[in-house]
Amino acid sequence: MLKGKTALITGSTSGIGLAIARAFAKEGANVMLNGFGDKDAIEKERAGLEKEFGIKARYSAADMTKPAEIADMVSATEKEFGALDILVNNAGIQHVANIEDFPVEKWDAVIAINLSSSFHTIRAAMPGMKKRKWGRIINIASAHGLVASTQKVAYVAAKHGLVGMTKVVAMEAANDGVTCNAICPGWVLTPLVQKQIDDRAKASGKSVRDEEIALLSEKQPMHKFTKPENIGALAVFLAGDAAESITGSAYSIDGGWVAQ
Ligand code: NAD
Repeated sequence: MLKGKTALITGSTSGIGLAIARAFAKEGANVMLNGFGDKDAIEKERAGLEKEFGIKARYSAADMTKPAEIADMVSATEKEFGALDILVNNAGIQHVANIEDFPVEKWDAVIAINLSSSFHTIRAAMPGMKKRKWGRIINIASAHGLVASTQKVAYVAAKHGLVGMTKVVAMEAANDGVTCNAICPGWVLTPLVQKQIDDRAKASGKSVRDEEIALLSEKQPMHKFTKPENIGALAVFLAGDAAESITGSAYSIDGGWVAQ
């Protein structure tokens, strides 16, 4: 379905981003991976995608807190593959604390990675997309892009900002063949969430399983995690022809979290 297209997925060495990269590769798209992690493990993943799906996969180590590295990553993608057709802004981190205890450097890092990096990637990718009259921008926001929780001031501010950015970009590119949408997942069991569960278990003295159930049931009517590959499938749908008139939307995939 996406043969001949190129997708750049930020933060795709782990969790949701990796599942999205796999979903695009499965559809025949070439992929540019990005994110941190063990060099050998990343190379194994990159080579594995090429072998399994017969596509071209490359890796950029660009740090999403560094605008110059982000611009270089976008131009390297265009140079390597001839175009950047699908941009998925997925890299993200979390920090949990009340605002009065929230370290300033954590605020700066969450805003840089979860919000500003998308401004920088879109700013760099948009001219090529407009020129080619085709582009798909998919921003991985969160249920926290639509509603709040305590102790997540930076994350909630960044994700609400990302949903706002999605709307502006959608409007600006509405007649250039470029769509921009957000995906708003609820709980997905990835390293980002596992850390929150482990921290809760440490603080409460309860078992990890008990805290897993508590975490889910505090927020979601559906007491199960969304699978990363289901987010990949939604991203593939938004990149396809059937979604050509969907733009400026925020898609919840959250077990009913924001329905309440
Ligand atoms: P994860 O920790 O498994 O993956 C995060 C990825 O971002 C990794 O590849 C990491 O290397 C990369 N990254 C972190 N800092 C970076 C930086 N400075 N530069 C480049 N890459 C960097 O997390 P995840 O749960 O897969 O989260 C992916 C996205 O989904 C995030 O934006 C997150 O906010 C969002 N999200 C996750 C959940 C969930 O329940 N897991 C729910 C809603 C939204």
